[in-house]
Amino acid sequence: MSKSPPAQRVIPIQPLFAAEPKVYPRSVSGLFQRWRWGLVWFTQIVFYGLPWLPWNGRQAVLFDLEARRFYLFDLVLYPQDTIYLAILLVLSALALFLFTAVAGRLWCGYTCPQTVYTEIFLWLEKLVEGDRPQRMKLDAAPWSPHKLALKTAKHGLWGALALWTGFTFVGYFTPIDELARDTAALALGGWSIFWILFYGGATYGNAGFLREQMCKYICPYARFQFVMFDADTLIITYDEKRGDPRGSRSRNADPRAKGLGDCVDCGICVQVCPTGIDIRDGLQAECIGCAACIDACDQVMDKMSYPRGLIRYSTETAMKQGGAWAAIARRSFRPRVLIYSAVFLALAAATAWSLATRVPLKVNLERDRTVLAREVAGGEIENVFRVQLTNASETPRRYAIVADGLAGLRIEASEPVAVPAAATEITTLQIRAEAGAAGPGAQPIRVTVTDLADPSVSVTEEAKFWMP
Ligand code: SF4
Ligand code: SF4
Repeated sequence: MSKSPPAQRVIPIQPLFAAEPKVYPRSVSGLFQRWRWGLVWFTQIVFYGLPWLPWNGRQAVLFDLEARRFYLFDLVLYPQDTIYLAILLVLSALALFLFTAVAGRLWCGYTCPQTVYTEIFLWLEKLVEGDRPQRMKLDAAPWSPHKLALKTAKHGLWGALALWTGFTFVGYFTPIDELARDTAALALGGWSIFWILFYGGATYGNAGFLREQMCKYICPYARFQFVMFDADTLIITYDEKRGDPRGSRSRNADPRAKGLGDCVDCGICVQVCPTGIDIRDGLQAECIGCAACIDACDQVMDKMSYPRGLIRYSTETAMKQGGAWAAIARRSFRPRVLIYSAVFLALAAATAWSLATRVPLKVNLERDRTVLAREVAGGEIENVFRVQLTNASETPRRYAIVADGLAGLRIEASEPVAVPAAATEITTLQIRAEAGAAGPGAQPIRVTVTDLADPSVSVTEEAKFWMP
């Protein structure tokens, strides 16, 4: 008798990504909404305005990659100053750790570009298509000339803002007035067009479509910031003790007599949430800390004549033990916060000191290896060096160069070297020493470059003088 083959086990395929319904955040007004918009205005005025600010006849902030120079107001940084950029990144990371430990997702909720541009794009969307119910109705409706006109207008506005953002961003790397002139003359270079479209496209895609998906699935900061949270970190939280049991009731009803808490279960806190979560389910990774649910719930509490703050800023400790703002503020001074603050302040102070005392002159001295040490007329020994002088200031300078360290050491036919503002000059030095000044081999010498008009601008470099 032949055996029937064993039945194949079917393993269900698990999708790696669960599609979620589109979020239609309802607009909200209130204290935190005003703060959010205040910061939208502030960050955008700075971002769009800064590249147009003139400074000493040039752009105040310009990261000129082609000329390998970064201009930050009076400060001119060169590739040799990359350390300052590295320190700036470390300081930013420390500031983020510090603010996250104290105030949770303050950055995400108020100043992160993703939040700011989503807020602006949502405002444009509301301007064209209306608030949440109208937008939901429009999306559910079949295509019609009216729907097409609204969608075209919205995408037109989004596209224009995205392109302006891309243009401004490129204006931090290419002089923006040149960029504007080239744009007006339709003479933009290929790379400029590419980067404007790239950054414009990123803004359009992130703020128009990805929105909360960026915070939930892509942003690395959202993933690891919970490591920096503790029981005393400021979070946005629903007061379960006060709000539950939830239920609808009339405005005049006594909730206690009905066995209810203060939450009327209206769901408005969920409708205003840009990530579509219910804060009443507890602290969630998806919560970006925008405080829209606080404003929404406070309005409901006002209408019901209940005290505000059913959803509020608090900490896990304060929610468990109770405690006023004074207790929350006191617990901000805990070891982790003090350590972050101390490291941040020490590094910031050291950087400020280093920048304040920075000499605007860079000297790069190298022995010319193509020319051997040789005896010249008069019996002196000559070594040839190549020196590169970078004037890291905004004024032209003339430098005197002297050498010392060996008996009779001098530079043959040494003339002051003129270097224009923010420029580099290379010159050759024929350095000579008396024949018996030292034994054979490499001998240490010093070469000093000093500004003729300002002796405080002086750099000494060490080198090896070769005696045959
Ligand atoms: S739960 Fe509240 S604070 Fe968190 S993202 Fe939603 S609306 Fe913003
Ligand atoms: S807005 Fe306030 S009252 Fe309404 S469901 Fe949310 S927590 Fe409850």
